[in-house]
Amino acid sequence: MESQGRLPISPVLKRLLVPLWNAAHYAGWAVRDHGGAVLARRFEFCSVCGRTRPMIYRRRVIPAKLAQLWGLSPELARALARKETLDCAGCGAKLRCRRIARTILNVYSTNPAVRSLAEWVQAPEAARLCIAEINRIDGVHDVLGRLPNFSPSDFIPGAKPGTVVAGTRSEDVTRLTYSDGSFDLVLTSETLEHAPDLEAALAEIRRVLIPGGRHIFTIPMLPHVRSTHPRIRRSPDGRWIDVEPRIHHPGGDWGYLVYTEFGRDFLEILDRAGFDAQERFGPPNAHDLAQVIVATRRP
Ligand SMILES: [Zn+2]
Repeated sequence: MESQGRLPISPVLKRLLVPLWNAAHYAGWAVRDHGGAVLARRFEFCSVCGRTRPMIYRRRVIPAKLAQLWGLSPELARALARKETLDCAGCGAKLRCRRIARTILNVYSTNPAVRSLAEWVQAPEAARLCIAEINRIDGVHDVLGRLPNFSPSDFIPGAKPGTVVAGTRSEDVTRLTYSDGSFDLVLTSETLEHAPDLEAALAEIRRVLIPGGRHIFTIPMLPHVRSTHPRIRRSPDGRWIDVEPRIHHPGGDWGYLVYTEFGRDFLEILDRAGFDAQERFGPPNAHDLAQVIVATRRP
């Protein structure tokens, strides 16, 4: 029965109006985001696409509910929003992705005049590298896709690792299907926290790298967390039990499960897993959570 006193909207009209409403909403956000970046004169050179563009900050990616769930102070919530946004208006690379690009250039480029990944991929030294990207890294993915020895993959739930689904290769970081010593460089960004078995993920990344090869990556890390620990544990009867909230996507009530909380001891864990590790842009602090780790495989 239709509710009293309310004008029923015909399903046809609704089907027409909802997309329009959504489009207007997104257009409003886009105007506000771009306008905000321009007004704040947040123009920067992008180390991914090599253009100077407004960098778009979107505080709303860390809603109040999520900040509360994760115990973030307003300052840390803003720092996390900067890490996850400040998107280049030219290529969409967010701050953490642009910092991965800067780290790649810093480690691999032999020409100091090269300032962006887009320039660097034209150099023969870049074409010679075998690079694996485990889960798409915004902006970086498209530029590295111009290289001949670039192997991108994504974790596709339900797909057999190593198979290609709709043009994308499925890989599970805890059981990669690549041969030993396949890569000079493995890239991950905000991926390791989603691996149910962190030890297996690190062992797999080490296995597919050549000795001296590098894993360049970002993980969520907060300045006050000292020791790396699981957010989940197995009960004596074999069930998984959440120790801390395990979801870290908008609203805190959906998204990928988070199995590990990383602490300041993680470089030591990498050392024990057979890597010499260094932190760039760090350490994490209340204003900057976008660190990049370079882990070099020991022989
Ligand atoms: Zn860009």
